[in-house]
Amino acid sequence: MCKTLSLVLQLINPYREVMAIKIHILQCGFIRVSETVPYGNRFDLLEKAKQVSAPDRNRVSLPVFAYLIEHPKGLILVDTGWCREISPEGVYNPKAVAAVLPPHLAGLFHPVLPERTAIHEQLSSLGIQPEDLDYVLLTHLDPDHVSGLRHVSKAKHIIVPEDEYFWSCRTVYRTRQPQKLWLQYPMDRLYYRGSPLGPNHWAIDLFQDESLQMVNVPGHTDGQAAIVIRNSGRFVLLTADAAFSARNWQEMIVPGFGFAREWQLRSLRWIADMAADPGCEAVLCSHDPSVKPGIVTL
Ligand SMILES: [Zn+2]
Repeated sequence: MCKTLSLVLQLINPYREVMAIKIHILQCGFIRVSETVPYGNRFDLLEKAKQVSAPDRNRVSLPVFAYLIEHPKGLILVDTGWCREISPEGVYNPKAVAAVLPPHLAGLFHPVLPERTAIHEQLSSLGIQPEDLDYVLLTHLDPDHVSGLRHVSKAKHIIVPEDEYFWSCRTVYRTRQPQKLWLQYPMDRLYYRGSPLGPNHWAIDLFQDESLQMVNVPGHTDGQAAIVIRNSGRFVLLTADAAFSARNWQEMIVPGFGFAREWQLRSLRWIADMAADPGCEAVLCSHDPSVKPGIVTL
């Protein structure tokens, strides 16, 4: 419906029902990482080596979130969490992890995926099959966000920003984002375009109506997207890993896992600005221990 017609209808009947958008927060396991991963506040290659070999006593457990959006234009999944094969019995299993991840990432993440929490298991409990999904949006191609892609690869569209895909095949991302987890699945690679939104002023307006935008938040990766969902003058911001938790943007602590600290800071400042907007309903970070699974309605 064009904006003018929508406005006219609203003037005729201001009480007409506007379809709500529901955002399901789905926890797809944990990572158990060095505390410097979420709150390292600096770029340091030596520290990265320490993160991989950190003893368990120096690690914290952080949730891994994906999101199911019931949107007027379809069912949309944002990210996919861990795959079942990485934790077959629902507990930490180093051998199973080693079969999915290379040693440096296995050491970094120590992933766990409890029973019935893999993305397809949770969708099934909601009565949703992978082929029912209209879109799977990938915020970036790190394994905690894409290893579950194998479970939902029958979705109608899998979308990734071209900038993320481009860099994932190159430089340091080639070792950080194992291609066997995602390269085999056909993806729509969409270009960011100029936008008032975001630290980089780049966004993908998926439906050309501002109801769902992938906004470039570089720093953690070059092409990473945050997601902004709008309805009835309000919005929810999914930060992806631009902020691991609210503490990052509230205290301007740069996560210690990223490759461009200045851009990480710019992305955090943008998130803080968005959070201060009166239209902001919620800011949800991918690894925030204070966020609990549930539904946010817009
Ligand atoms: Zn992550």
